Amino acid sequence: MFSRFGGGIHPPEHKSITEELKFVNLPIPHTCYIPLQQHVGAPAKLAVKAGDIVSEGQLIGRADGMISANVHSSIPGKVADIAVVPTVYGPQQSVIVEAEGTFSSSAMPHETRDWTALAREELLDRIREAGIVGLGGAAFPSAVKLSPPPGKRIDTLVVNGAECEPYLTVDDMLMKTFPDAVIEGTRILMRALGAANAVIGIESNKGAAIVSLKKSIAAPGIPDGIRVKKLATRYPQGAEKQLIYSLLRRRVPSGGLPMDVGVVVHNVGTVHAVREAVLYNRPLYTRYITVSGNAIERPGNYKVRIGMKIADIVEECGGFREPPVRIVMGGPMCGQSVHSLDVPVVKGTSGLLFLAGKGVAAREYSPCIRCGACVSVCPAGLLPCDLGNAVEKGRIDLAEDLNPFDCIMCGSCSYVCPAHRPLSHFIKLAQQKIRAARK
Ligand code: SF4
Ligand code: SF4
Repeated sequence: MFSRFGGGIHPPEHKSITEELKFVNLPIPHTCYIPLQQHVGAPAKLAVKAGDIVSEGQLIGRADGMISANVHSSIPGKVADIAVVPTVYGPQQSVIVEAEGTFSSSAMPHETRDWTALAREELLDRIREAGIVGLGGAAFPSAVKLSPPPGKRIDTLVVNGAECEPYLTVDDMLMKTFPDAVIEGTRILMRALGAANAVIGIESNKGAAIVSLKKSIAAPGIPDGIRVKKLATRYPQGAEKQLIYSLLRRRVPSGGLPMDVGVVVHNVGTVHAVREAVLYNRPLYTRYITVSGNAIERPGNYKVRIGMKIADIVEECGGFREPPVRIVMGGPMCGQSVHSLDVPVVKGTSGLLFLAGKGVAAREYSPCIRCGACVSVCPAGLLPCDLGNAVEKGRIDLAEDLNPFDCIMCGSCSYVCPAHRPLSHFIKLAQQKIRAARK
């Protein structure tokens, strides 16, 4: 038996489209549209003005406040404009950089550092300076996550290599391509947290990644305390609370955080980016993504510049085989529908899906038939049907009693509902209304 949590679903994986395709660097775009808010928290404060010449990796937005993140230029060139542009998070003030000059050096030196000689605070400074955020999609500033309040002792780092969303293979390819780097990044994060243990959770459908990481761990000089654990292939295995339970049998309390049970979780992509920041002083201005779906000509795993427009990525991937009915940033379960190709890739973009064919478009929904399917798959133990019915009737008071804030927005309930009820959407609406009423 593999480790798993209660509930969940196993939708068609669709990973075979890209799982064997090695990373390809996409050509540099002529223009990057770099939003100042690509992370949870306050937007970064503008650090350049129109007409400025910027280097690749130069700071263009400075973190503003406790929860925020630095933003860097993805290409060398000229700041053509500071303007509000459409993004997956809505219209955002952005720095528009037109490429010119050379790519031979970043604004920061690329010397390799012996990180084992760096103090914890120095590690955190490097991670903060580099603007690292959670690359699994949450985009929470990593340095903040690595700084638990006094009194919270972290004994275990969980590295999330589950990649449970259908279609996405970017984390799988990262673990297969750079296993030693992932293990080194894990060690850096253990040191930054003062955690003696790390467990890397990977779903059973990524056998080659499991083998690669186990081999890296067995190399001379790797300290004890790092384990790789095979997980059941079951969505949403990669959700923090479910992952912690599957790996450690610790339950994060309702309304609580992983740190309440001595754990901090980081995605493998984040771990890789942290190593790049600490060893090479490299800010987060590129990222790896999966481009997939039946509507794109050349699906694959690509390295792209942050701020590159989806339209430019589509062009580099050979255009469309057929017009997509649905475009998603992220995975099909938790990702966000995108309605324009003019939206840029941001730090939290793990994938771009271009889907066509039957069953892709949103369907009409009908009343609940009380079949109970949504209840049996909910990994948070909620009653999605009752929550949905309460919201539909405008009874937010009833919804509030059903713990809507325990919902992790995994979409499993909506996926199985035979009446096609948009249950997670209803629950999000309940959360928004309750928050507004509490203000
Ligand atoms: S109610 Fe929330 S946590 Fe439960 S299945 Fe639906 S989206 Fe997932
Ligand atoms: S799955 Fe849909 S129809 Fe069945 S109980 Fe839940 S909301 Fe009702």
